[in-house]
Amino acid sequence: MAGERKSACSCHAYFRIEVTLMDYQGKTAFITGGASGIGLALAKAVASRGCKVLLADVQREAMAAASEELRRDGGECATFAMDVTDRAAVYACAKEVARTNGRLDFLFNNAGIGDAGSPLETISDSLFDWLISVNVTGAMNVLKAFIPVLKQSGQGGHIVNTSSMAGLVVMPGWNQGLYSASKMAVLALSLDLRDALASQDIGVSVLCPGLVSTNILENALKLRPDAVAGAALPDFPEMLKGEGMSAAEVADITLRGIEENLAIIVTEPELWPLVEAHHKRISDAFHPA
Ligand code: NAD
Repeated sequence: MAGERKSACSCHAYFRIEVTLMDYQGKTAFITGGASGIGLALAKAVASRGCKVLLADVQREAMAAASEELRRDGGECATFAMDVTDRAAVYACAKEVARTNGRLDFLFNNAGIGDAGSPLETISDSLFDWLISVNVTGAMNVLKAFIPVLKQSGQGGHIVNTSSMAGLVVMPGWNQGLYSASKMAVLALSLDLRDALASQDIGVSVLCPGLVSTNILENALKLRPDAVAGAALPDFPEMLKGEGMSAAEVADITLRGIEENLAIIVTEPELWPLVEAHHKRISDAFHPA
């Protein structure tokens, strides 16, 4: 797979032509959280390049609609109703994928739920347990179950774990500490795994999008175990109320990141000052005045 990478060539002094050399044709991608938002956009992006898509999600109806849309657009798609927190179900799904599909080339470990605007001391134990179980334990369950399937194919491959800008920085005043903690865990797992799998030609990237226009917070309200019908969203920080990047754009940036086998894929490099300010807090601890 590594031999297929490399992306852009400067064919002329005045313009640059982007060439996608990663061959998706005849390959297979497994995508968790594939029924909505970034997962669905990734599914569309790889399906349009000839890759078979295996969608996994806890929302059956949304997943059925997503798969219908993919097929209508000419894609090849299968669905797996799966909750990433259910370890036995995740292993059973990996077994089924290996049995029915034979090979796996891409793993988009993307299912996740969001939270912001809730002061840490007000977060219920059940919300804490659930968010960690989806965003951290769920991500780990998927890695443990599906890495053997990728290896079994013997053709290399690529894993993209979805973290967030919140995995790179704790934003002062955003009340997003729990979500940040979960996404920092995804960052750590990814970087560790990248080193471990490099010798087997399996690339690992961690995707760190900024704000993306999806239904993440509405889905979190709906899916949480203590969901109350008609419950209002918490009061978000101003920056989270704005228009985010489109999921389709995030998917395009992600595929470019795979081409270049990037360790960390950021979607908004202009947000670096936020990360730099966060790093300064750490740096100050090592360089006291
Ligand atoms: P989304 O709600 O549109 O999509 C997430 C999908 O994950 C949904 O279809 C949901 O049903 C599924 N899901 C949730 N819990 C699940 C579980 N236990 N098992 C299986 N599937 C489950 O949200 P999105 O914005 O597309 O989020 C995708 C990923 O991107 C998440 O990991 C999220 O944390 C991350 N992210 C989102 C943003 C953003 O601004 N939207 C920014 C940075 C990172």
